[in-house]
Amino acid sequence: MVVIGAGACGFAAALAASDGGADVLVLERDKRPWGSTGMSLGAVCGVDSAEQRSHGVTDSVAAFVDDVMAKTEGRADRALAAVIGHESGPAIDWLAAQHSVPLKLDLAWTGLGHSRPRLHVPPGRTGEELLVLLSQAAERAGVTVVTEALVTGLYADDSGRVTGVRIQRPDGRHEELGCQAVIFATCGFGGNHDMIAGHIPSMATARYFGHEGNRGDGIRWGQALGGAVDDMTAYQGLGTLADPQSVIVPHTLMIDGGVLINVRGERFTHELDNISGMCIPVLQQPDGRAWVLFDERLLKTSLVHSIELQQLQELGAIKSAPTLPALETLINVPSGSLTQVLAEVAASKSAAQPDAFGRSFVDLAPLTAPFCAIRVTGALFHTQGGLSVDSEARVLRADGSPLPNVFAGGGAARSISGPDVTGYLPAMGLCMAITLGRIAGRAAAKQVCSNTLTTV
Ligand SMILES: Cc1cc2nc3c(=O)[nH]c(=O)nc-3n(C[C@H](O)[C@H](O)[C@H](O)COP(=O)(O)OP(=O)(O)OC[C@H]3O[C@@H](n4cnc5c(N)ncnc54)[C@H](O)[C@@H]3O)c2cc1C
Repeated sequence: MVVIGAGACGFAAALAASDGGADVLVLERDKRPWGSTGMSLGAVCGVDSAEQRSHGVTDSVAAFVDDVMAKTEGRADRALAAVIGHESGPAIDWLAAQHSVPLKLDLAWTGLGHSRPRLHVPPGRTGEELLVLLSQAAERAGVTVVTEALVTGLYADDSGRVTGVRIQRPDGRHEELGCQAVIFATCGFGGNHDMIAGHIPSMATARYFGHEGNRGDGIRWGQALGGAVDDMTAYQGLGTLADPQSVIVPHTLMIDGGVLINVRGERFTHELDNISGMCIPVLQQPDGRAWVLFDERLLKTSLVHSIELQQLQELGAIKSAPTLPALETLINVPSGSLTQVLAEVAASKSAAQPDAFGRSFVDLAPLTAPFCAIRVTGALFHTQGGLSVDSEARVLRADGSPLPNVFAGGGAARSISGPDVTGYLPAMGLCMAITLGRIAGRAAAKQVCSNTLTTV
């Protein structure tokens, strides 16, 4: 059985397939696995996990599905959301218990669409660490990972059954490999600028901050085999990518009281309304840029657990000044503008009323001197549309029938974010990768092993 792509989805699929007794090979285009998983923050959403229960968090599939439907205004696939609700917690438990990939509940991340704490992180809180843990688990399980193996095409019969793959090696040689089943773990199409222009024209000129090798290959192969796609207009964006450093500014700075201002020194949005959708108002500001305004108290609290903030500090991206007028000069916004912004926030807090953008500051400590700011821009992180799959991660045709031996997960499959940027719930990218990857690997192994028995 062949898994194409060595990100979180590919590894989860390979581990599950190996658990199921399949002889599995992972093919990866890069010299070492990295993908969007390696670039990510490593937070994985899971529902009703052992970790949640050990912290006394009561979660349920129904609560998760309600959150997904609320976030997407009823436009996500409810049945798929229920599958993810049922399988995501057990997938996290399985990784920890059977494959020594520990993911701990992160209580710093609550709200933002999740009605319960659901984000699970590796000990070092990075996607790179998650990927290393997964690849070590695959090695222990005896999974073969072939790197520098760019899959350039598939061989299939008239029924859409894939019989082999064509691989291009770095020296230009081509190799062919037969297989009984294939799993597309090639992520989405963020690195395919023509596809972005076609499906998400509003982000055609925006920065793409995902893995450039994700060119939508699995999605296009699936379509060529007769598979259907859905929600191709959906994506996760981010309004707070440090500019020009391209490091993610942790949202906890805003959750704990920070605000966004534009280059005119004006606020322009509710900073917590929609993390993913925030890329749009930020890109609409003059120059497509903004500043995250916070204070040294928040900096100290967040620095302890945010590697990104530590990087930003090392890179000199955090501008700091003892007073608001000094910060206004430092970041070149009009004199008096920041004083005005914080006066409006203070007025909203003392009146116990939401501000003009609908945000409440009632429970938040006011920002105090010294003050800090980081310049940010909006970016496209990863696409959310992809191949339609069923509860076994089998790729479906438009009539709902499955392709014979083709599975997809992670960014290659349609997610549960609805059709646009605002439907993305935090940590769903890795959740779809690990959960659907595991489902795909398990189902494909079952199919392959029963085929083998029949042949014998
Ligand atoms: C900066 C950033 C931060 C993020 N943070 C989070 C987070 O904290 N939580 C979360 O849930 N999500 C996060 N995401 C999203 C998350 O990273 C992705 O949703 C997830 O990694 C997708 O996993 P995947 O396995 O499908 O894809 P990937 O990890 O991208 O793996 C796909 C692999 O397929 C390979 N490949 C592609 N085409 C071919 C081919 N033709 N032949 C061979 N190999 C091929 C690629 O090289 C790549 O290694 C973040 C994304 C970004 C960009």
